[in-house]
Amino acid sequence: MSTYAPMLAALLALLAGLAIGKAWERYKLHDGRWIDRRRARESPHYILGLNFLVANQIDLAIEELSRAAGLDGEGLEVHMILGNLYREKGQVGKAITVHQTLLQRPKLSRLEHAHVLLCLGLDYKRGGFVDRALEAFNEVLRLDPKNEYALINLQKLHEEQHQWTEAYDTRQRLSVLTGVAARPQSQAILAFLENEIGLEAMRRRDGLEAARRFEAAIDLDARAVPAYLNLGDLRVAGGQAQEAAAIWEKMIEVAPDRAYLAFDRLEALARQTGSPERFTRLCRRLIDANPQDWRARLALSRHLAASGHPKDALDLLFAALVQNPHALGLHQAIWRALGQLHHPEALVDRYSELTEHAVFYLDPHVCMRCRYRSTELLWQCPHCHDWNTFVEERIAPAQDATEVEG
Ligand SMILES: [Zn+2]
Repeated sequence: MSTYAPMLAALLALLAGLAIGKAWERYKLHDGRWIDRRRARESPHYILGLNFLVANQIDLAIEELSRAAGLDGEGLEVHMILGNLYREKGQVGKAITVHQTLLQRPKLSRLEHAHVLLCLGLDYKRGGFVDRALEAFNEVLRLDPKNEYALINLQKLHEEQHQWTEAYDTRQRLSVLTGVAARPQSQAILAFLENEIGLEAMRRRDGLEAARRFEAAIDLDARAVPAYLNLGDLRVAGGQAQEAAAIWEKMIEVAPDRAYLAFDRLEALARQTGSPERFTRLCRRLIDANPQDWRARLALSRHLAASGHPKDALDLLFAALVQNPHALGLHQAIWRALGQLHHPEALVDRYSELTEHAVFYLDPHVCMRCRYRSTELLWQCPHCHDWNTFVEERIAPAQDATEVEG
């Protein structure tokens, strides 16, 4: 990520600059003063500056664009790009000064005003001045209600502040505007935001509102796993164990790859309600449907070990180990089961054989977007703030399912 980010940022600055330039060109043509503006654009410094920008040589780009700007004190676009480049270099104060100075100009059109404010909002955001950034993006939207870039930044800022309702409204506005309302990815993000709003309601003990939000999240995206988990927790708290079990089983049906997130809950429920076989059946069903499901084996083995069947548990764990030799949780469960059985030599030997090439590691979840690593599955990346980007990494491919018993 570190090698691509500055490049992307620079290209983005360039594209924003060009888009802004286009809007400005329209204005200037109306105004009949476009020859003035071309002075900066026609200078070789401007073209050189853009070339350096594309080559990610920001310092040289700044140098050349500063010269072009010097030729044309009026040139809004080149000053705006220069400000953006200062920001990308981390010189936020300088960027703010450049953009604030541009805002002082007496004859800015509505659109120009919006574009400069957008740049300023990005400066504030980068500098951590959250309130000022929020104010700037909202002002951009007042001047230019269809400004997607302002909406995206506003959504992210609200998310960072945990202002979920505002984030949701902004996201919805963006979806309507860009016509992607029906696209699954957009629905999924709205569902995550609904879920967060539901969690907030849960924290202030408004169970009805929380349930309404979790259900809305599931309506938006049938695979909104955290909403199922939370809705079930809410039902358990309300003494409705059967409803909770049905909700979690439904989640497993629509997202079997995430089934393990409900295992502890379902096992506890099955024990409480005196029907442990409901949980064992579920695990067996998952293993049959997907022989590589090592987590279902682990869950079932825990259940068996706890109910006095360590040998059966161990068989399952060895089978799971073939699928994922690197999962620390499996090894810990095996050590416990071997202990329960007083370390029979044959089983200890079998374990040594299976683990000969295993590497233990604890953080197998990776963000597909920015490569951030985490021990847990996360729904929103703490680094790039994108939703639902984590996948589980395996060092070695799992062996063929037919080699596995148990
Ligand atoms: Zn990320």
